[in-house]
Amino acid sequence: MKLPVYMDSNATTPVDPRVLEAMMPYFTEHFGNAASKTHSFGWKAEEAVETARRKIAALINAKPREIIFTGGATESNNLAIRGIAEMYRYKGNHIITAQTEHKSVLNTCERLKTEGFEVTVLPVDKYGLVDPDDVRSAITGETILVTIMTASNEIGTIAPVKEIGAVARERSVLFHTDAAQAAGKIPFDVEEMNIDLASITAHKMYGPKGTGALYVRHEMVDSHKENPRVKLKPIINGGGHEGGMCSGTLNVPGIVGFGTACEICQKEMPQESKRLIALRDRLYNAIAEKIDEVYLNGHPVKRLPNNLNLAFLYAEGQSILMDLKNIAFSSGSACNSAKPGPSYVLMALGIGEERAFNSVRFGLHRFNTEEEVDYVAEEVIKTVKKLRQMSPLYMLRSGGSQG
Ligand SMILES: *Cc1c(COP(=O)(O)O)cnc(C)c1O
Repeated sequence: MKLPVYMDSNATTPVDPRVLEAMMPYFTEHFGNAASKTHSFGWKAEEAVETARRKIAALINAKPREIIFTGGATESNNLAIRGIAEMYRYKGNHIITAQTEHKSVLNTCERLKTEGFEVTVLPVDKYGLVDPDDVRSAITGETILVTIMTASNEIGTIAPVKEIGAVARERSVLFHTDAAQAAGKIPFDVEEMNIDLASITAHKMYGPKGTGALYVRHEMVDSHKENPRVKLKPIINGGGHEGGMCSGTLNVPGIVGFGTACEICQKEMPQESKRLIALRDRLYNAIAEKIDEVYLNGHPVKRLPNNLNLAFLYAEGQSILMDLKNIAFSSGSACNSAKPGPSYVLMALGIGEERAFNSVRFGLHRFNTEEEVDYVAEEVIKTVKKLRQMSPLYMLRSGGSQG
């Protein structure tokens, strides 16, 4: 077993060697610009891009022409939300989202508020679920977009996306979902789930960083008759690449890698998700057997196969991380933001600051082994016990004995 063990796959996944292999020729011999129409270098690149587009579309049951390449899910979220807001401003100025969304959604909505848009940020329940009835009640005559993520990057909770999409459609409101964590990990079908726009990114599914896509529905269903196509205002203007929706020379090797990553995920998802759930449960059970007062954050069943978010009372997440230099995982404090505080996602669950600060997130991936899981469990148990021995509150509570 090689140290450190990587278990932070909700932040990014390792690149699958098969993905890298597919990409390599597009850095070297086939380096053409996919927009070059006058020679074979361009043709070869364009052909590779279109092959990848088909594979990406196939993973989410879309049509290839409904896929717009972007620089990742952050850019896709910006393009979807701002693009719809600006295009449909004449119909209304109201957007609905939720407290636990990724910052690229929340901050895009915040920015739109300064430009005259109204934003409703829905609460979630203790598992991080948005209630479709709350979406229904929040829709007004001014609502043009509902944007709710499919699966949470922090707590792994999977939203009732199909139901939320049905509510939006029933009221002829467009529905966007940030599926960065969901695509490639759990079944994700834009037709079955009533989705109009979806953001995805290669580096959360064993592809390269800096390549993503936005799915945009072409043919609207009946209730949108007056509005036969979803239209967007681009946020990046230039040579008209991607139907004018996202100008700039395409990242051909990245796109090829993205396509291969999607193809592998689609093929291997049934076995892979079973394997990851087994590994995740092995990790949880090993820890919970030896440590008392450990709580699971997020939904116990409706959760990503690869996400385990745990709160250890009387042991700070940040201290657990610092003690375990040979394990790459993350804590429930927003140490990546300007003002350190508890994670806003955990706070939205209503679990309180203390439990949020006591939380850590494990993100398993395709290449993790049982041996690694057992190592991580053992190390975490040792560290939590040690930290609790140093916690006056824990010693008071337990009378000095470690359960
Ligand atoms: C990682 C992630 C993003 C951002 O994707 P990038 O490709 O890194 O920009 C957005 N939303 C969710 C849910 C994510 O997990």
